[in-house]
Amino acid sequence: MPQKYDAIVIGAGHNGLTAAAYLAKAGRKVLVLEKRHVIGGATVTEEVFPGFKFSVCSYVVSLLRPEIIRDLDLAQRGLELLPLDGTFTPLPDGNHLWRTNDHARTYREISRHSRLDAEAYDEYGRAMLEISRFVKPMLAMTPPNAFSTRLTELRALRDLGRRFAALPDRDRYNLLQLMTMSAADFLDQWFETDALKATMAASGIIGTFLGVRSPGTAYVLLHHYMGEIDGAFRSWGLAKGGTGAVSDSIAAAARASGAEIRVNAPVSHVLVSSGEATGVVLENGDYFMTSVVLSSADPRTTFFKIIGSEHLPSEFVADLEHYKFRGSSGKVNLALDGLPDFVALPGPGNHLRGAISISPGIDYMERAYDDAKYGQYSRRPYIDIVIPSLTDPSVAPPGKHVMSCFVQYAPYHLKPGTWDESRESFGDAVVETIAQYAPNLKSRILHRQVLTPLDLERDFGLTEGNIFQGELTLEQLFFFRPAPAWSSYATPVRRLYLCGSATHPGGGIMGAPGRNAALRVLKDIRS
Ligand SMILES: Cc1cc2nc3c(=O)[nH]c(=O)nc-3n(C[C@H](O)[C@H](O)[C@H](O)COP(=O)(O)OP(=O)(O)OC[C@H]3O[C@@H](n4cnc5c(N)ncnc54)[C@H](O)[C@@H]3O)c2cc1C
Repeated sequence: MPQKYDAIVIGAGHNGLTAAAYLAKAGRKVLVLEKRHVIGGATVTEEVFPGFKFSVCSYVVSLLRPEIIRDLDLAQRGLELLPLDGTFTPLPDGNHLWRTNDHARTYREISRHSRLDAEAYDEYGRAMLEISRFVKPMLAMTPPNAFSTRLTELRALRDLGRRFAALPDRDRYNLLQLMTMSAADFLDQWFETDALKATMAASGIIGTFLGVRSPGTAYVLLHHYMGEIDGAFRSWGLAKGGTGAVSDSIAAAARASGAEIRVNAPVSHVLVSSGEATGVVLENGDYFMTSVVLSSADPRTTFFKIIGSEHLPSEFVADLEHYKFRGSSGKVNLALDGLPDFVALPGPGNHLRGAISISPGIDYMERAYDDAKYGQYSRRPYIDIVIPSLTDPSVAPPGKHVMSCFVQYAPYHLKPGTWDESRESFGDAVVETIAQYAPNLKSRILHRQVLTPLDLERDFGLTEGNIFQGELTLEQLFFFRPAPAWSSYATPVRRLYLCGSATHPGGGIMGAPGRNAALRVLKDIRS
């Protein structure tokens, strides 16, 4: 007889694990099935080279919901978040821009470039804070169905409208601008220093196939602005031991409540009977029966590979076919036998302990996108670098370092050529670009791991290599994520729910999709 569960979760990414932990905590019998040999999905630490532990994909934490940290006792289960202070932008002329959490110092540093910008920086921070306060509660809510005439949905829409109407005029205007403008245009209204605008605009393009001058990117800027670590609004941090520690601590919470987690367990398909999910079959033929299935895999994998379009309404299939992945990012992980030495600020120092951003100007960023638009990886890409071993020595042997380089753009559809042919030349372009600012880098490299969008798809199941399981563009957010009328974690297959980044509020190490989905399931089971 197959084993019977209350809930089976497909995928042990941090969202699948979060959903499992909440369901198990509520007394449900839960099984998590992960196809990889290790849990975590894109939130994973792996010892890629002996002695060097990498946050292979995601590398910084900020959006992880504080209520999840609290509810699941993650701090008691080994999660330690170490602050990542500052962003250092080296410039080609030997100058630099280095912002930190020290207000007075950052003021002086920006003043070195522009007194006006230093004044505007505070004002900008306040404006973004107000808008974040409006948007943040929406992260924990199930988006109403904007296409339904049911009273509960209409009420939820009315409440949203009322909250928006209650905002001061200026905040309403800023919010509308964020929704419609490009990151570059939005920032142009506040600042004049090119490197400052480019470095800030960078968060508007992460995970999207858009440039800093593309309308809509200003919203993604806000998405990344909303982080919270230990209540310190808008700060970024490193997880001690790598981002896999986030997943491990959530898994520990799930197991403590009785959830079972199996790795090397790829799901082949979900059993659907009379429009209802009833069980899950593994690729090796093992199968399990269940009352509810939650999939943390993206919608293309879930509906076209695991469910099958024959079980779905044609309109839903058409909507999902138009859901955009368009991966645009790559990652280069370097094992170093010493630190890079930047011409702009030579020697070791605190500027290496925060983020190091290769984003010298708006034109530079847009040119990087120009390459991608026509199917090539950026010859001179935007790169976001962190060296976690400086803050957390446990991830590298003594005296050695791990350096994580997040890169844009690396378009999934490469023309001409294939990613298998171009992987190493892409890696070379990244190293060459950084070496322009830190010439000793090449001689410090002991090992190099290059992840292309194709690798993200093959190894991590991220369709087209999109780091967020689908672009965070406005037409794919909130009411529309992943499809119009299906933003509430439920799906057209009864007792099948989505719980990964392809659902509201989207990608990033947030846990919110997993938590929201679990709460929805618990509500449905009770009613
Ligand atoms: C290169 C990169 C850099 C990033 N950087 C950051 C960052 O610094 N900060 C940040 O906040 N976010 C970052 N992100 C985004 C963040 O990592 C993701 O949004 C998040 O990890 C997604 O979590 P998830 O649980 O929703 O999905 P996933 O992590 O994608 O988990 C889905 C799981 O389902 C499994 N699966 C798929 N199909 C099956 C199947 N058939 N059977 C069983 N299991 C299956 C997969 O193996 C995977 O483990 C980055 C992502 C990438 C790729």
